[in-house]
Amino acid sequence: MSAASSSTTDGRRRIRTPGIPSRCWCGVDVTEIISRTNPNPYRRYYRCLFAASQRLENDNHVLKWVDEAFTDEIQQLDYQVRMLEEEVQSLKATIRNEGDIREGPKKMPMIKISGGCVLLTIVLVVGIMMYKK
Ligand SMILES: [Zn+2]
Repeated sequence: MSAASSSTTDGRRRIRTPGIPSRCWCGVDVTEIISRTNPNPYRRYYRCLFAASQRLENDNHVLKWVDEAFTDEIQQLDYQVRMLEEEVQSLKATIRNEGDIREGPKKMPMIKISGGCVLLTIVLVVGIMMYKK
């Protein structure tokens, strides 16, 4: 029996370090360094502090161009904003539906009427007491 299924999933890709990296997988903070190499002069990049201090090369610690990280971050934020917009829309629809079910507006006059009754009773009682004196 083969357990393989040919279900069509929405091809969500996972990026290793999405957006702006703040910490390397090794637990050390990430710093911003300006490139001094000939192919990328003065191009800024994020680098693992440990790898930078040890002057490591061809390692797998965080190394990401700042401009590429910013593009990633913007794309991520754009996606998040779209998701939030959808959520707000569905929440608005839910609130509208709940308002219809509860029939909220009808409750308010009831409270006002009973409040008026109490006030009227007090006025009557006070009025009677005043009259008796
Ligand atoms: Zn590291």
